[in-house]
Amino acid sequence: MPFTEFHFHPSISSGIKAMGYVMPTPIQREAIPHALLGKDVLGLAQTGTGKTAAFALPILERLLAGPKGRVRALVLAPTRELAEQIHVAFKGLGRGTHLRSAPVYGGVKMGGQLTALKGKAEIVVACPGRLLDHVGRRTADLSGVEVLVIDEADRMLDMGFLPDIRRILQKLPAERQTMFFSATMPDTIATLARECLRDPVTVSIDHLVPLTTVAHAVYPVGEHRKAALALELVRRIQGGSILVFTRTKMGAQRLSSRLRSSGETCAEMQGDLSQNERTEALEGFRRGTYRVLVATDIAARGLDISDITHVINYDMPDTVDAYTHRIGRTGRVAKTGDAFTLVTGKDEAMIREIERFMGRLIERRKIDGFDYGATIDAHERPRRAQATAPAPAVLPPKSSGWSQRRWRFKR
Ligand code: AMP
Repeated sequence: MPFTEFHFHPSISSGIKAMGYVMPTPIQREAIPHALLGKDVLGLAQTGTGKTAAFALPILERLLAGPKGRVRALVLAPTRELAEQIHVAFKGLGRGTHLRSAPVYGGVKMGGQLTALKGKAEIVVACPGRLLDHVGRRTADLSGVEVLVIDEADRMLDMGFLPDIRRILQKLPAERQTMFFSATMPDTIATLARECLRDPVTVSIDHLVPLTTVAHAVYPVGEHRKAALALELVRRIQGGSILVFTRTKMGAQRLSSRLRSSGETCAEMQGDLSQNERTEALEGFRRGTYRVLVATDIAARGLDISDITHVINYDMPDTVDAYTHRIGRTGRVAKTGDAFTLVTGKDEAMIREIERFMGRLIERRKIDGFDYGATIDAHERPRRAQATAPAPAVLPPKSSGWSQRRWRFKR
């Protein structure tokens, strides 16, 4: 069934065409007819399924009629990057309409947002915290909101936005259409969904299964050789763009600087960076200026980069859901991708949990020619030397000419 069967207004059909969409994705096929009728929608779908257009297109269609110059659709998203992406999707799909979208998030000046909120946009895509700042200053009038979208609800709750969301809900007209999207549905999310939806239609797209277009592999390795193995993996991947996940900001910094010093073009995305740095990293990665992006989970949430060929879990995700989300960054919309996970002894239990969930074993791989047995990775040495390792058994004479980098410690 092609998009034409939804009978969108020609100004919207031209946007769909310009975006290069021909066939709707399953979530779009399921959700759009209900959303066009004004029904509330509960969508169980992970990113990469096309869920943005599933809510954006019916919103654009609805807003074509009716008043302009006031906020009539509000989309809540957990991160600035996701808000920006949704805003860009609205702009792309709505390019043939006169409807305007504005992103509203923290970390940037309020000025432009003020103009948008005061009558220059019909659609606002916001992160909860900054939107509430505006509400508190009375610079956002949400009384005309006809459609609310809560996107990546599970992520928003993980990030502690539940009280903010409840406060925003109080500012919205009770009479409205609400669309609620989440990749998972734990009890807290189900409760929130019940609070804000009325008689919703549920659409569910493989919501808990890591994308089948992704090939999964696990690389067992000793903790001290992880960085070297990650470098080797990246080096052996021909072409493509690679997203690497670390658990901590510090981990992202250290790994990306190692990748850079080994000659890779590499950017990082972690919470300590300014908005400008994050945007530069993301854009550079999108354009291909950087082949590798090293990111923490929070920074990478909701990223829509269509050509990621490899996701490498440098650190094991904490939960099966987190694994699903990370892997959802590759293999998006009918593309294929690889998901590699570095596994140390302490990660075995989590890998088994992921395998149980996927209903199959994940292939264990070894890299031929990689020195798994090296006692300690040179770059790790100074930090670990202090923390755990005893003094080296034999020190080289100062004049020996040995490179410090080649030193190995006995453990
Ligand atoms: P989303 O899950 O909304 O983040 O979308 C993931 C990616 O799929 C984005 O790059 C969209 O532009 C793309 N996309 C969405 N719908 C379609 C479609 N019907 N055909 C092709 N690509 C699509």
